[in-house]
Amino acid sequence: MQNFTKTDRIEPEKRGSNERKKDFKEIYRVFKPVEAESQADRCVQCGDPGCHVKCPLHNYIPQWLKTVANKDSHMAFRLSNESNPFPEITGRICPQDRLCEQDCTLQQDGYGAITIGSIETYISENGFKNGWKPEFADKMSEKKVAIVGSGPAGFSAATYLLRSGIGVDMFEKASRPGGLLTYGIPSFKLEKEVVFRRFKWLEEAGMKLFLNVEVGKDVDFKELTENYDAVFVGIGAEASKKAKIPGENSEDVFIAIDFLKNIQQKHFGEAYDEHFNVENKRVVVIGGGDTAMDCIRTSLREGASSVKCLYRRDGHNMPGSRKEFRNAKEEGAEFIFHASPKEVLLNDEGKVIGIEMLKTMLSSKDDSGRQSVEIVEDSAFRVDADIIIFALGFNNTSPNFLSENGVETDKWGAITANDDMQTSKPFIYTGGDCFRGSDLVVTAAQDGKLAATAIAKKLLRK
Ligand SMILES: Cc1cc2nc3c(=O)[nH]c(=O)nc-3n(C[C@H](O)[C@H](O)[C@H](O)COP(=O)(O)OP(=O)(O)OC[C@H]3O[C@@H](n4cnc5c(N)ncnc54)[C@H](O)[C@@H]3O)c2cc1C
Ligand code: SF4
Repeated sequence: MQNFTKTDRIEPEKRGSNERKKDFKEIYRVFKPVEAESQADRCVQCGDPGCHVKCPLHNYIPQWLKTVANKDSHMAFRLSNESNPFPEITGRICPQDRLCEQDCTLQQDGYGAITIGSIETYISENGFKNGWKPEFADKMSEKKVAIVGSGPAGFSAATYLLRSGIGVDMFEKASRPGGLLTYGIPSFKLEKEVVFRRFKWLEEAGMKLFLNVEVGKDVDFKELTENYDAVFVGIGAEASKKAKIPGENSEDVFIAIDFLKNIQQKHFGEAYDEHFNVENKRVVVIGGGDTAMDCIRTSLREGASSVKCLYRRDGHNMPGSRKEFRNAKEEGAEFIFHASPKEVLLNDEGKVIGIEMLKTMLSSKDDSGRQSVEIVEDSAFRVDADIIIFALGFNNTSPNFLSENGVETDKWGAITANDDMQTSKPFIYTGGDCFRGSDLVVTAAQDGKLAATAIAKKLLRK
């Protein structure tokens, strides 16, 4: 260990931008054993590891790095899969530069963080190649939990309930499981077989998955509360935000998730809306987060003639991962910073011809160090476009079945819960975006884990 003075940080090999733009396959290769082992060997094994604290799942990172460096692959697989319901997924799509890797001692000392996410992916992929699978309880109790929603929150809750010996029936309104892992995050970041492989194992462990079933419409929520020992609600945050500017209701103005979902449906061979076709179109994406980068890179792969990203702050203040920003730039996106949308410009037939923007500047820092965005007077300028995509985040929706069954929500429509993820109703639990507002896969996974642990404690009196 502690080989950081001899071994530099390396990233896994990345496909060239010209090649990768032609398809939706993942752009990073998984580390080879020798790469993972030498990268893991850089770890200094800190006594109070910042990576472990910063990781929302509190993964045993230094421990599994040591086992990888010592070539004990099986122990690494077991450790990694204990605290994380799907390590090869978080390893691929966590914004590590804002989480575990940001608080790695080597990053802070200027040596470059351990490539924690890539090693995490390697550990499980290498384990699967060796024929190892996640473990579940040998013996099931008579208890059964209904899970509403198959996104990372429900997916994680199901994993930990099945491990405790509690049966799971999962209800999902879409035709495939995974929530935004499947219909939001594009395949060039996360190939869908990676997600479905784990669902197959959950089904083998006894979970019943009911697809195309919307709770509150096809199944009564009250019936679930009566027929199961507990219910977990992981329904995400589905209401997209708009900019509230003139012209935004044109059919050439897309909401990010509608666009990404329809393109994914097209790739699955499912029915989709062809008006989301961007081939040979000039696309403008408004927003600076990871969803904006996903829309940019999807548009480039779908044959857009040009893709511009307009963002109201600057490159340093983008909320998404630096890695995704770099990838979007390499693939040919143009970035215009300090720009805020004023009006979508339409022709006489209501078709988009461009967008009028206003220049912005950042104020001086307030006491918390934050700079607000200020509009520069008389600064309007026009950007030509055929398609505008808004990637401005999500609001919570609170379906009627929640209030009808006494499940409390806050003023933003998010479900409220205590530290055990229990809602205002004793046997109803929640987690993920419907509780936090739109956030991350790893935080949804942690919520699902906490809820499952609390449910198991209650139902099995552990
Ligand atoms: C485009 C995009 C890219 C992203 N990229 C990243 C990333 O790279 N890294 C990262 O960490 N996070 C990313 N996120 C955020 C992350 O995907 C979410 O925070 C996470 O998926 C939330 O998980 P969840 O289980 O709470 O909700 P969701 O993933 O939204 O899943 C909720 C599920 O519930 C189902 N459902 C809803 N209502 C019902 C009902 N009544 N009956 C039955 N089923 C129902 C939905 O169909 C859905 O499948 C991204 C988000 C988007 C939109
Ligand atoms: S789950 Fe995410 S934050 Fe935690 S160790 Fe893995 S990549 Fe890092």
